This record gives sequence, structure tokens and C-alpha cells, in this order.
Amino acid sequence: MPLELTVQPNDPNLIPIAEKVYAGERLTFEDGVTLFRSFDLLTIGQLADFVNRQRNPQGYVYFNQNRHINPTNICAFHCNFCSFRRDPGEPGAYAYSPEEIVERIRPTVSERVTEFHIVGGLHTEYGFDYYLEVLRALKRAYPWVHLKAFTAVEIDFFAQMTGLSHEEVLRQLMDAGLGSMPGGGAEIFHPEIRRRICPEKADADTWLAVHRTAHRLGLRTNATMLYGHIEKYEHRVDHLIRLRELQDETGGFQTFIPLRYHPENNQLGKRATWTTAHDTLKTIAVSRLMLDNFPHIKAYWIMLTPPIAQLALHFGADDIDGTVVEEKIYHEAGATTEQQLDKLDLIRLVRAAGKIPVERDTLYNIIEIYDRPLEEIEAEVIARRKRRIIEQARARRRERVALTLQ
Ligand code: SF4
Repeated sequence: MPLELTVQPNDPNLIPIAEKVYAGERLTFEDGVTLFRSFDLLTIGQLADFVNRQRNPQGYVYFNQNRHINPTNICAFHCNFCSFRRDPGEPGAYAYSPEEIVERIRPTVSERVTEFHIVGGLHTEYGFDYYLEVLRALKRAYPWVHLKAFTAVEIDFFAQMTGLSHEEVLRQLMDAGLGSMPGGGAEIFHPEIRRRICPEKADADTWLAVHRTAHRLGLRTNATMLYGHIEKYEHRVDHLIRLRELQDETGGFQTFIPLRYHPENNQLGKRATWTTAHDTLKTIAVSRLMLDNFPHIKAYWIMLTPPIAQLALHFGADDIDGTVVEEKIYHEAGATTEQQLDKLDLIRLVRAAGKIPVERDTLYNIIEIYDRPLEEIEAEVIARRKRRIIEQARARRRERVALTLQ
């Protein structure tokens, strides 16, 4: 048994897989299914942690200062796992104008925010120009912030709405300020499941084709998988292998984010329930093991809860997402996590797991490594926060004085 494996597998089926992992060999579809079927969580976690440490020997865990923006929840589609969508006129339906978006977020956007994560409903009446103008307006108001916007499903919807190709849609969005794409809309690729949970959405080949095109145009993108509903382990592994194949081809994916299904306030919740922490940790770990060509695996704290996300850092994850600020999509579906963690919360959470927090931008350029004593970091962050509050108060006072002088 290799030295690194300090825990003997309880499940003998994992021994040949462990040998492959230590030899740096690619895992097969059958290996992926065997891993998912196994209850030997500690061995699976240790293997994933080994892979993570090989790629990331410093023990870095990345986060960013981001802000989620959902321009509208009015959507033409009816995915049965979705608690976010509304029909026009339905209670709770909203569609913010580009100017409203800019003003709504203003109190929460400091110069330290580096990313807007923008996804939302597919609004048929607004047209593609609305979505372009959302990007332009944000870029005008906050030129330093990277715009990570619109899933492959949204891009395909824009293409259908306009008759333009995916490439032309992406080019126009890039001209309007698009910097990269999030990984949503992937759900589960396998048609047996996809047609039961989101029959109207772009199919797997289309989702992958949009990302292939984006990578060719120089955009970096992420990928997701919605797990823990009616899919089987075979569907999860099929999903991971399709992503791995595209990554072999293009190298354009940055991060894989397993998304835990939330069953409240949606149709699918009548048949599916919350999945377990055991399943979540195993899914993170198997993702790290199968996606040997993905640079990063994210434990998205909003969906996993901060404690499980923290544990996931020892099961192969090396990213914990960001400050988020306002999250609608999963909170409509029953998420009970905070909608916001500030930078210090994230730093403490990562440090308490024995890892080194690293603030990054969207493209994983390092902004700051927080490897100093925690008390020093806390004092600095709090002092910086106080300075910012004082500066903002002074700016508001100057604005009031200027107004009274007019
Ligand atoms: S998941 Fe997205 S596309 Fe599907 S109904 Fe919800 S908002 Fe619409």
C-alpha cells in the first residue's frame, strides 16, 4: 500500500482505484461508479485530498469578493427543480431595468469587489438588447469589476431569440463587457434525466457546444452538476466524463462546482428530498478524482452550508466561492445559509480548516495570500473596513453639501 494511504480502505473495491490515483492514471466510468457506490467515505476523501495536495501543495483555498446579480426571475422555461422562476404578473415576479440594477447594488459594491456573477430568468419580451444593456450599464458604473455572466442555456436562448449564432451572441456580449461565463445550466446531461427535469433547456450537446465556442473565443468558463435528486450515480459519472472530454479538447474550464439540489418550493421536491452530507462530501471527492484536468473544485458554501463547505476542503475542494451578498436562486428553494459572508468570515472559515485563504479574481490571479497570523489579518481587515466607512460617510457629506450649494 502506498505510503500516502494512511487509512486502509474498508472497501476492498477501492484498492485498485487507489493504486491508479497514486500512479496518476485516469479513472474510468466504472471507477467513478464504484467510488459513488462505496460508503468508504474516508478513503475516497483521502484520495481526493491527495490529488488536491499534488496540484496545490501550498494548501491554498481560493475565494473572491463577488456580488450576485439576478436581473429578472421571469422565465419562459419551467425546469421542475427551479423555485426561482415566475411568470409575468405572478406574485414575486420582477425584472429590474439596467439602471435599477446599477443603483440597487451600489451600497454593496466597494472597490474591493472584483466580480459580478450575473444569471437569471429567460425573459422573452425584453429581447437580447436588454441583456446587452445590463452588461454595458454595469461596466459603465463599475469599470473595475469583472462580469461573469450568462449560462450556456441563456446564451442558447439569446441565439434562438435573435437568430444569431452562439459565436455572434458571445461576441456581442464580449463587446458589451462579458469577461467569462459561469457554469450553470448543466444540471445533469444524460437525456434520461434531463428530459424529466428541464425538457425545454438546451441539451447536453448544445451546452457543451456553447462552452466550446466560448473557449475558442478566449473566454474562461466554469461547469456545474446538479446532484441529489432523481439521477443515478451512472448519470453523475457520465456528466463528469463529458466535461472531462471537453476539457481535454479546449482546456477552457477553470472550476467545477457540484450543486446540491434544494427540494423546497419546486415540483421536483414532491419526489426528491435533501441529499445527505455524506453524499455531498463524496460528490466533491469523486469530482476531484474524475476531473483530473480541471484546475479547481469548488465547495459552494451557499449550497453546502459553511460547515460542510469547510469539511469539503479536506475532500478535494480548493475554492469556497465568495462573499456573494445576495443570493436568490437557492434561498427560494429552501437554502437556510446566510446570503452573505464577509471576507473575514471566509478567511476564518478557511484558516480553521488548516488551509491558507487566498483572495483571487475571477481568472484566479492572486490578489492576496492570507498566511499571516490570524489576529494580524483580523486587525488589518477591520481597520480597512473602518477606513472605508469613514471615507463613504465623508463622500456622502460632500454630496449633501454640493446639493445644498446648487
Ligand atoms: S432553472 Fe433557469 S431556465 Fe430553468 S426555469 Fe429556472 S430560471 Fe428558468
